[in-house]
Amino acid sequence: MKVCKFGGSSLADARQVSKVVDIVLSDLQRRIVVVSAPGKRAKDDVKVTDMLIGLARKSLAGEDASAELEAVVERYAGIARDLSLGDGIVATVRADLEALLAGPKDDPGVYTDALKAAGENENAKLVTEAFRARGANARYASPKDTGMVLSGPSGNATLEEESYANLFRAFSDFSGIVVYPGFFGYRKDGTVATFPRGGSDITGSILAAAVRADVYENFTDVDSVYPVDPRIVPEVSEGIATMTYREMRELSYAGFGVFSDEAVYPAVKARVPINIRNTNHPSAPGTMIVQTRRVEPGRPVGIACDGGFCNFIVDKYLMNREVGFGRRLFQILEDEGISYEHSPSGIDSISVIVRERNLDRETERRVTARIKRELSPDNVTVTHGYAMLMVVGEGMIFSPGMLAKAAGALASHGINISMVNQGASEISFMICVKDECREDAIRALYNAYFPH
Ligand code: ASP
Repeated sequence: MKVCKFGGSSLADARQVSKVVDIVLSDLQRRIVVVSAPGKRAKDDVKVTDMLIGLARKSLAGEDASAELEAVVERYAGIARDLSLGDGIVATVRADLEALLAGPKDDPGVYTDALKAAGENENAKLVTEAFRARGANARYASPKDTGMVLSGPSGNATLEEESYANLFRAFSDFSGIVVYPGFFGYRKDGTVATFPRGGSDITGSILAAAVRADVYENFTDVDSVYPVDPRIVPEVSEGIATMTYREMRELSYAGFGVFSDEAVYPAVKARVPINIRNTNHPSAPGTMIVQTRRVEPGRPVGIACDGGFCNFIVDKYLMNREVGFGRRLFQILEDEGISYEHSPSGIDSISVIVRERNLDRETERRVTARIKRELSPDNVTVTHGYAMLMVVGEGMIFSPGMLAKAAGALASHGINISMVNQGASEISFMICVKDECREDAIRALYNAYFPH
């Protein structure tokens, strides 16, 4: 059995919804369909989730929000009209939204979450109607009735472990197609709670794990995951057919935006294969993400790049003999609540790479002062503007010359390597270059590892 998740762009209008219905009906294994709220129909359009946030804000401010309400209802009404679904579903959407708007406002976060969740909830009801209009046996399932229990702050909720058993039970005996709204669940006190933005991916992954699906199909708007960012290397044509969970995690950490490593964690933990596919090109097999795969020795699966890093460089003569130096350095970062990304070191120097967005100037000043005071180094400097390149692939294990190839390619383009880090797992290595060289560096590495 397959759990399929369709994102906002896959459900933005009637044409897209029809494609989704076709895709699901073309494979009897596709039994659970997780839907996002309608997304953007064009570049300058507004997602229904953002419209609902605006609606909640106005209503909380005590202002007249009827125009915003009508605009949201119209998004659903337009789809219903174009699919000839009748007026019933539009009346349901309107009544549900009116009831939510009239709900208690004592906790603005809870109030906003309830309205945000309606984006997916109403869409699940509409998509169910679209299946029925095509003669399919489909039903809507509610996160409340099926036991999707969440906890934590509004807009950033997390799953309660008991949900897996609840969902397994709820889906143990069902027939036909179930349409399930993504992005939200319920706290034990009955209030709605949403996952972070983009959270329908999390719902899909949780359901796939709970029902032990054979595959979790995540439909988006690209044919596959590419070994390098096609915006930087437009000539990349061949997508990644299969990669492992570990490769996926490394690539997504280092900037691959097609999927979120956190969102797919439930499916990864349950070892459910994940298939990234394209709603607009359903015959393309997409990218499979699995526990193990056959590897081609010496060939990476992908090259990722992310910018915006800075580097604390701490030098001290005889540092290698000073027991506890590293621990005390990292303690300072921990005290400041800063997580670090890598820490390449030499005998008398240690670097700590941090994302610039996690470090304001004041914190940087405080951390530097504490390092000087508490560790008495010869020198501490903070340098900004680094990009991190990651070359990733299980095929690199025990393959001599992988780093040499990267170093040679960068050298031949006159690009200086600021830092290098390779973990003992040998599944990836990281190279830091200055931000301004990043696109050239990506192209150089791509041409070195993926000659065409
Ligand atoms: N509709 C929500 C958002 O726009 C969740 C999702 O689409 O996954 O963030």
